[in-house]
Amino acid sequence: MTLASRETDARLSEQLVYYFGDGGATTTDRTLLGGKGSGLAEMSSLGIPVPPGFTITTEVCSAYYRNGRQFPSELDAQVADGLKFIQEHVGTRFGDPDNPLLVSVRSGARVSMPGMMDTILNLGLNDTTAEGLIKRSGNARFVYDSYRRFVQMYGDVVLGVGRLNENDHDPFETLINAKKKARGVTIDTDLTEDDLRELVAEYKALVLERTGKPFPDDPQEQLWGAIGAVFSSWETPRAKVYREMHGYPDWWGTAVNVQAMVFGNLGDDCATGVLFTRNPSTGEDVIFGEFLVNAQGEDVVAGTRTPSPISEAARAKNDPPSLELQMPEAYRQLVAACETLEKHFRDMQDIEFTVQQNKLWILQTRNGKRSGQAMVKIAADMHHAGVLTEREAILRLDPEQLNELLHPVFDPGAKREVIATGLAASPGAAVGRVVFTPGDAVQWAARGEDVILVRDETSPEDIEGMKDARGILTARGGMTSHAAVVARGMGKCCITGCSVLEIDYPHREFHVAVEGRGTVIVREGDLISIDGTTGEVMIGALPLAEAVFPPEYEELMSWVDRERTLRVRANADTPEDAERARAFGAEGIGLCRTEHMFFGADRILAMRQMILSQSEEERRVALEKILPYQREDFSGILRAMSPFPVTIRLLDPPLHEFLPHTEKEIAELAALLDMKAADVESRVHNLSEFNPMLGHRGVRLAITYPEIYEIQVRAIMEAACALQAEGVEVHPEIMIPLVGMDTELQELRALTEEVATTVCEEQGVHVEVSVGTMIELPRACVVADRIAEHADFFSFGTNDLTQTTFGLSRDDAGRFLPSYIKHHILERDPFVELDRDGVGGLVRMGIEKGRSVKPDLKVGICGEHGGNPPSVHFCHEAGLNYVSCSPYRVPIARLAAAQAALQNE
Ligand code: PEP
Ligand code: MG
Repeated sequence: MTLASRETDARLSEQLVYYFGDGGATTTDRTLLGGKGSGLAEMSSLGIPVPPGFTITTEVCSAYYRNGRQFPSELDAQVADGLKFIQEHVGTRFGDPDNPLLVSVRSGARVSMPGMMDTILNLGLNDTTAEGLIKRSGNARFVYDSYRRFVQMYGDVVLGVGRLNENDHDPFETLINAKKKARGVTIDTDLTEDDLRELVAEYKALVLERTGKPFPDDPQEQLWGAIGAVFSSWETPRAKVYREMHGYPDWWGTAVNVQAMVFGNLGDDCATGVLFTRNPSTGEDVIFGEFLVNAQGEDVVAGTRTPSPISEAARAKNDPPSLELQMPEAYRQLVAACETLEKHFRDMQDIEFTVQQNKLWILQTRNGKRSGQAMVKIAADMHHAGVLTEREAILRLDPEQLNELLHPVFDPGAKREVIATGLAASPGAAVGRVVFTPGDAVQWAARGEDVILVRDETSPEDIEGMKDARGILTARGGMTSHAAVVARGMGKCCITGCSVLEIDYPHREFHVAVEGRGTVIVREGDLISIDGTTGEVMIGALPLAEAVFPPEYEELMSWVDRERTLRVRANADTPEDAERARAFGAEGIGLCRTEHMFFGADRILAMRQMILSQSEEERRVALEKILPYQREDFSGILRAMSPFPVTIRLLDPPLHEFLPHTEKEIAELAALLDMKAADVESRVHNLSEFNPMLGHRGVRLAITYPEIYEIQVRAIMEAACALQAEGVEVHPEIMIPLVGMDTELQELRALTEEVATTVCEEQGVHVEVSVGTMIELPRACVVADRIAEHADFFSFGTNDLTQTTFGLSRDDAGRFLPSYIKHHILERDPFVELDRDGVGGLVRMGIEKGRSVKPDLKVGICGEHGGNPPSVHFCHEAGLNYVSCSPYRVPIARLAAAQAALQNE
């Protein structure tokens, strides 16, 4: 929709300008005033001292475009009145040569929108008003610094004086750099008043040269130019693209905020500072912030002077005196403003303030960013103080931020020398020495070293090395690659798809080209730090902070569990994982992958013997060797999860993954099988597939070799019967992977039931077992009604379903998906956040069809999406019974499920 085509918007209210800053406001309507204007009006109506100003409404912006970029005729008088309003409140006058008013002009749509004009400060300065301001402030350097900043901002934003092409430098920066060079100084603050005065003249000459017109000296002309520039910035290509991306309509328009400038650098009775109303690291209810006397906002963040604490209570031994001590009246006003703002916004605030001649002004307030610990404590504290209900407290939490309670993080103050960035596959932080093989990881760890395992990619046989490493870094693989899934399951920090790494295994080193540093070579044994939350790889050892649960966590999670309707299970393959998952609140296992059970050193040989067997009989002999191990594994898991259900998936990966690769392994196997090594090698070669993920895997293995599943079912049932006989309540659920045809499931269900019945009879115990299937192929979704005839439950394997729906390899997509995201072809990695339209459409179809046959069909999800908050919302809306995710994501999924329930009430 274009601005002009919106009929309803063609009305223009009589009131085009709204004031703030006199302790009141007639409206705080966001649609009319934009986000910034509404925030200022809101603060004003709370009696917060904000510098006075006025907002020109978004309606004026729409009218401006309807009228061919002309201001409505009524605007002139209303802006003039607005200026009068400001003047009366600050006692200065716009353009007054002796006591000039300076203003800021800012844009502000109803949502914060990058791409639009941001801010022009110090508007109203010219050679005359500058002299007037010098007389009043007695600080010529400050005035000329403000003046040169104003000409630069105005020249750039309003008059369009910028770089001429991509290779050009900003022309204002070129001038100031030249000035610094000529004066032999390196930082802006070393330029003198005279230097700055010269710069103002040079900037103005630049404007004249570029635009053919002199820089406007008349404050009125400056103001109208700035107002027009704000409106025009609504239609810049950047702003349009941003609107399109987010679906924001063109007709919204932007408001313009004109506000009196206040200065914290006019003398020793002035100051400027920033604060959080609570400690943003711990959540403790004390004002946390700092300020500088006689300074501008940017000086506080620049770090050139040491700021002082706000309160005496927060003052450390060597700190300078606090604001409380130095400016008691301003401090009193500030504490009162903090209380009012927190109470009003019902959240911890991040506040910018200025004290001008002992008078406090609040320039900005917003909900403050905080650590995971602080997030939990603040939400609970605010509930106990009667500020938030339990439900509101739940909705204030960011599920992903719970990661900070579950994994170690790097000290936020530590300097990062990032040499490469990959996919943030599993959160947390790790420091260790680089090793390149899983075997080395095991050996180095055994002698007490912390190691980071660096591989092109990982495979199931690397599991031991992965377990012993502090973190895992791979050059290839996406967010559901083996390394990512396994690391997440272990709660281990992992980066995948770090494609800039060139790994040289023979020389035990990796190379990475780093901008400005050339090729960096990292050798075995070198210390690196990896951040699985950001995907960053750094040289050296960054300081780590261990994760801790704040005492309020359990209480908050009890509210969460009360609200959610989705059950939360865990993907866990070992008794230890199952126990950990329970501790995190899992209500069962939604996916026990059994492949690792074939990889132990004691079993892999039997497995290989099974694969290379020529007859069913030989295969059975080999499988019999594995049976007792599996029984033991299942027993441990069922016991650890009792009385919750445990979904055990029968063997899924392509068989060749289990085959020997090295000469030594081939020789060992040949000896065992009484075969020639060359023959074994040729069998291995014959078994290899071009496209194993679409090959002989999942249910297809059991169609050709039913005895594999038969043995697995026997192991499950023997374990279950023995436990039940012992009095341990067990609920095994047997799951068949990669089913695409109802007939596949029909056949294997019959086999499963037959074995289950036989075992129960043998053991003289009755164990209820349900048989279900994974739904991870598009065809399975389309024929889900027929499949449901043979299934007690469905579990959506959205890793494979995403792979097969998009036709996108989950192991290789990491190489090019980042380009898709960068070019906005995809907004998000579909292996991380479930693609609602495509994959989600198939999931909905599968549920609907399945439940058309069995209305009570139990449906879950066990792909990685089960632990991703937006995907959990989808699962809630689509009517799933449970989500299943790695143990470390269980708390996150619980919280996301509660939020989904509350938001869909
Ligand atoms: C899936 O495909 O979503 C799934 C859970 O199975 P896997 O990741 O083991 O293929
Ligand atoms: Mg799968």
